[in-house]
Amino acid sequence: MPELADIGVLGLAVMGANLARNAARKGFGVALYNRHPERTDELVREHGGEGRFLPSKTLEDFVASLARPRAILVMVQAGKAVDDVIAELSPLLEADDIVIDGGNSLFTDTARRCKACADKGIRFLGMGVSGGEVGALEGPSMMPGGDRSAYDRLAPILDRMAASVDGTPCCVYVGPGGAGHYVKMVHNGIEYADMQLIAEAYDLMKSLYGLDAPALAGIFSEWKQGDLDSYLIEITATVLRKTDAGGQPLVDVILDEAEQKGTGRWTAQSALDLGVPLTAITEAVYARALSAQRARRAEVERKIGRSPPPARKAGAAAIAAVRDALYASKVVAYAQGFEQMAAASAEFGWDLKLADMATIWRGGCIIRARLLDRIRAAYDRDPKLGTLLLDDDFLSAVTMASDAWRAVVGLAVANGVPAPAFSSALAYFDGLGRARGPANLLQGLRDYFGAHTYRRLDKPGRFHTLWSEGG
Ligand code: NAP
Repeated sequence: MPELADIGVLGLAVMGANLARNAARKGFGVALYNRHPERTDELVREHGGEGRFLPSKTLEDFVASLARPRAILVMVQAGKAVDDVIAELSPLLEADDIVIDGGNSLFTDTARRCKACADKGIRFLGMGVSGGEVGALEGPSMMPGGDRSAYDRLAPILDRMAASVDGTPCCVYVGPGGAGHYVKMVHNGIEYADMQLIAEAYDLMKSLYGLDAPALAGIFSEWKQGDLDSYLIEITATVLRKTDAGGQPLVDVILDEAEQKGTGRWTAQSALDLGVPLTAITEAVYARALSAQRARRAEVERKIGRSPPPARKAGAAAIAAVRDALYASKVVAYAQGFEQMAAASAEFGWDLKLADMATIWRGGCIIRARLLDRIRAAYDRDPKLGTLLLDDDFLSAVTMASDAWRAVVGLAVANGVPAPAFSSALAYFDGLGRARGPANLLQGLRDYFGAHTYRRLDKPGRFHTLWSEGG
């Protein structure tokens, strides 16, 4: 009888196939199943030599090829497909078998599936996987949540599959229920903000200073050497440098309509539910939505007869100001994302360790960045830190950048170059840095039309005023 597999992968599109290859390359026996068997055949044909694969054409054979307790990594489209697969698998599984959903599932679906599986004696993990297809193959960042004992059983496999930084695997148990998928969702939200901020920096330097793609590629390469060092900055330089067959920068002929699959929107929706001011990520979602209205944008531009801003010289100080504004805005985006995770942890009782989240995002994933080492250090210093902007190191970095940040946002506004994430991050920072804001007036208005009452600075209690009557 052939040796049974250590783990099974169900769903062999790009992510599943690469995770299966990753596990096999690390020496694990990997059972394979895909609804349409062509994908399984292709994987074995092209990569069968990379390790020990046990392909099956039926779910029954697939389950039978796994060592007990069985561990099945499901990598199918998020949504109904995950429920369908669980329904098909459940009758074939035994108590203590483990199902891991490694797709981008909504955290509330994961919490529901966790409970439904537990009721049947099946252990369920909802695991965020970041790093795209290359990360899946070479080592992703993995965010497993759900059944703790299932994680403990699988940790030796997951730790070997994950990326590692300074000998630490980019994989940690996140928390119960939907915690793993929640953290992955916020990761994707931060990715939206990070990319939007980079796009705004690109646009400002292109529109205000007339810099072309090769010049901008050089600037981003230089920024990669400093505080902004990150995977996204690195690939920005590569994308800007790429030319098409005709020799022109490829980026100049790519349609300016950003698509989205939903995780950024979910992050913003959850922030609204939790009452967390998540301005940078939410602006990034709106910016993609506006980008999708391409025909309307063209029509309005025609009607208003927009003229491009006057050409300016791109001095070193001007470019450094954009860099500083980008860094400060990025700190705000991360601070807001981490605050949201803390709020969700309190709301859902997850006991998330924020330093751990910064640790597992340092390698393998799309938002890996030098900044995450600093975030980890900040939460190590104070695990209960209310916002990263109260950490002395971050506060002084952002304060030092704030003159440049204001100048860049001012220039953008004065010249009609939209920089919504830069601007809203600055407005958030200014709002956060004001002990007394204008909400006193809001409370007065609310009390006027709705008798909602207000509190006073000078005495305790709640008050209501008959505003329209004299005196
Ligand atoms: P995908 O395009 O999202 O899904 C295709 C896979 O799902 C195929 O194997 C397909 O099987 C299977 N499938 C769909 N409906 C099914 C059903 N009802 N029953 C059984 N199988 C079904 O694949 P992907 O891009 O590899 O992504 C997989 C998951 O990882 C998704 O949740 C995705 O959001 C997440 N993810 C993707 C990336 C990325 O960079 N692509 C990164 C991180 C996370 P057939 O071949 O039979 O149609």
